[in-house]
Amino acid sequence: MTEPTLSAALPQDSLAEKRPLRVLIAAPRGFCAGVDRAIEIVERAIDRYGAPVYVRHEIVHNRFVVEGLKAKGAVFVEELNAVPDGAPVVFSAHGVPKSIPAEATTRGLDWLDATCPLVSKVHRQAERHYEAGRHILFVGHRGHPEVIGTMGQVPAGTITLVETVEDVGAIAIAPDVQLAFLTQTTLSVDDTAAIVAALREKFPTIAGPKAEDICYATSNRQESVKAIAGDCDLVLVIGAPNSSNSLRLVEVAERSGTRARLIQRASEIAPEWLNTVETIGVTAGASAPEVLVREVVDRLGEWRAISSETVTTAEEHMVFKLPRQLTE
Ligand code: SF4
Repeated sequence: MTEPTLSAALPQDSLAEKRPLRVLIAAPRGFCAGVDRAIEIVERAIDRYGAPVYVRHEIVHNRFVVEGLKAKGAVFVEELNAVPDGAPVVFSAHGVPKSIPAEATTRGLDWLDATCPLVSKVHRQAERHYEAGRHILFVGHRGHPEVIGTMGQVPAGTITLVETVEDVGAIAIAPDVQLAFLTQTTLSVDDTAAIVAALREKFPTIAGPKAEDICYATSNRQESVKAIAGDCDLVLVIGAPNSSNSLRLVEVAERSGTRARLIQRASEIAPEWLNTVETIGVTAGASAPEVLVREVVDRLGEWRAISSETVTTAEEHMVFKLPRQLTE
C-alpha cells in the first residue's frame, strides 16, 4: 500500500461561533474508469442515435447519475422486451448474461455493451474454464447484476455461487471434477481472501487467478477508507443501497472500529449524527460522482467550522477505450 499523504488543511473562514469539525476525505473515491466509460457510452449513444436511447438496468448504481442521463434522453428498462423494435439499447456496466446480446441480435436491435472491461475479463475467464471442462465456483453476492451476468456466460449447472466461508464447507463435488474459481469484482478484499483461502485449502488443485478478481477501484477505495476510519468518529459513505462496492466501504469502515453511514445525498445527513463527532470521514463508492462529495462537505460546513484534509493512499490513471461503434 502507498503511504497515505495529507493535503493542506483548508479551514473555513468566519465560522467562529461554530464548533470545529475535522473532515478527512478519502482518495481514491468515487467514479472509476468503468463507470466513466459506461456513462460516456450512454451520452455518446444519445448524440449518435438521438433520444431515446434505451439502457437495460441502471447504467451504474447511482440515482443522481441515472436521473441526469434520463434528462438527456436515456430510458431505463429492466428487460429487453421493454425496448421497442429498432431502438438502440445499452447494456449496463455490470455486464449481462450471454443470452441478452444474443436476443438483441436476433431482434435486430442496435446494441452497445457498457460492461466494464474488468468484468468482461472475468466473463472470458469463465468461458475458458468451461471450455477446459472445469466446474466454476463463483464467489459473489446472490442477485447482484454482475453475478447474474457472469454466471450467465456458461451453461446452468457448470457454475456454483459461493457467498461465504460456510458455503465452501458445504460444497459437495465429485473428487474427479476439475475446479476453478472466479470472483465478483466489487467484493470485500478481506472477506474474499478468507473465502479463497478456504477454497484452496479444501480443493488444493483448484485453478484460479493469483488472488481474486476484485478490481483496482474496489481495492483502492477500501484501502483509502481504512486509512481514515481509525481517526474518525463517523464515516459517511456516499453511494446507493444497491451498490456493492459502496456497501463494502461501509463494512470496511465499521470493521476499523468506527461508525459508518451510507447516504445517497447530503440531505440524508441528520444533524444529530454529528453531536459527538470531532472528526468525520467522507468517501464515495465507484458509481458516486464527485459533485455529491462536494455537496456533503458543504452541508457539514453549514453546521460546523470544518477543516478538510484529503488522505491519499493511491493514484489512479486507468482509462478504458469506448466501443468501436462510438469511435469510428
Ligand atoms: Fe469496473 Fe471496478 Fe468500476 Fe466495477 S468498480 S465498473 S469492475 S472498475
